[in-house]
Amino acid sequence: MTAPTSEDVESYLVRTRWFGGKGRPFRVTGVRTIAELDPADFRTSGDAVSRLRAVRIHLVDVVYDDEEGGAETYHVPLSSYADPVARLEHALVGADGSGLGEVYDAVHDRDAMALWLGAFASATGSAPREVPGARFHRVADTQLDPDATSSPLTGEQSNSSVRFGEQSIMKLFRKVSPGRNPEIEILRALTEAGGDDVPGLIGWADTTVDGSVLQLAMLQTYLRGATDGFVLALSSVRTMLVDESAGSAGFDHEAAELARALARIHRLLREVFPSERRGPEAAVALAERMRERLDRAILAVPELDAHAPRLRGLFARVGELPGLTVQRIHGDMHLGQALRTPQGWRIVDFEGEPAKPLAERVRPDSAWRDVAGVMRSFDYALAVVRMSPADGREPLVRGVDECGEWPVVAREAFVAAYARELGFADGAPPEDEILLLDAYVADKAVYEAVYEQRNRPSWVGIPLAAIARLGHTGETA
Ligand code: ADP
Ligand code: MG
Repeated sequence: MTAPTSEDVESYLVRTRWFGGKGRPFRVTGVRTIAELDPADFRTSGDAVSRLRAVRIHLVDVVYDDEEGGAETYHVPLSSYADPVARLEHALVGADGSGLGEVYDAVHDRDAMALWLGAFASATGSAPREVPGARFHRVADTQLDPDATSSPLTGEQSNSSVRFGEQSIMKLFRKVSPGRNPEIEILRALTEAGGDDVPGLIGWADTTVDGSVLQLAMLQTYLRGATDGFVLALSSVRTMLVDESAGSAGFDHEAAELARALARIHRLLREVFPSERRGPEAAVALAERMRERLDRAILAVPELDAHAPRLRGLFARVGELPGLTVQRIHGDMHLGQALRTPQGWRIVDFEGEPAKPLAERVRPDSAWRDVAGVMRSFDYALAVVRMSPADGREPLVRGVDECGEWPVVAREAFVAAYARELGFADGAPPEDEILLLDAYVADKAVYEAVYEQRNRPSWVGIPLAAIARLGHTGETA
């Protein structure tokens, strides 16, 4: 099997959205061809016109030469053609290595994606479809139209998503490592348990590398007519700016609905995966981790130092809690992972925090960590509008400073509905739980400060302002 040169792949990586090492000195140390889909093995609607010779699945090994160092592996499927293909010019990677053709990023190639869909369609609930080097699995009793046309999703993404008609959407994992991907595991379990608050899992693709399973992609039900929760929140804040009659309660109904969906998911996760009540030593360990993260963050963002005593005080109180209930959680929850559909809210992207190793991402944690993620999103929504208030809509009837109550109302509606769904009397969680939530909110804001400092320095004021408010007003930032 042939592969493009490391140089061609290096220059392609920096042009993609999903490559995590942009801006850092890196080298491609290997391009491994691990699997191949042969068009002759699949009957697709593109047969008559396509000159596609093969789709090869490669693993690209990258090492970093900066102080941080480290190594990563990326999943890069490529289509190969004997002659240049004009419609794929934007996805050109280079020569195919045999000197006889050119290769393109397969995600952008309809004919290549038709082979992937064909592979999923020909798998059954009891037997995966095998191709040389990879397996395509199918969840029993799922429908799939093999002729649906693919279109890649645009937008900021750490993976690549491809929609097939209006029926399914495939997420192709880009940064991969051996082991089970939490997203496939969780979606599969929730789908089998009949959970309606997530899109159903249809299938997944994997391979075996050095004796370990490596998961390459996941296929799930496409949610029609879905709106991103963060986009909806921004629009709710902006409505206040242009509509005199709009009040800060504009999002409370949506926030409450979303909270109930998240609470149902948490409850189901407790039923299908292990969950346990841990003793005081777990609270001590959690407080310690939060303190350590803060100490490390101060090195990257010195402005945090001024708030450190207050944050340490909060974490110390977490360390005195009698215990901690832990379970499988979403792990990277925020409004951008929630989609509002005509049938209600759905939550996606159960991969956990992409920067963490797989083993850490599947570790049970407190459900309040997910709630804290949503709390921080409400704060971000207002802050993002503050940076660009008008957004083309005019005239403004009030300033952003008059919208300060918006995140407060949304947070209160969310926490009350979440608590009520889980059976806490009067929608008020016990004090110990509120303390945990506050600590997770602080911990998340500390993480954001580092993230923003590195990626969007002009945004670092958003988490810093939230941290400055924490503990002063008694509110959750
Ligand atoms: P990533 O891991 O790259 O963040 P996500 O799983 O969050 O990928 O998906 C990225 C985007 O794709 C989402 O924000 C959403 O807009 C869209 N999306 C994800 N799953 C679905 C789905 N089942 N139906 C419709 N759109 C979806
Ligand atoms: Mg996402």
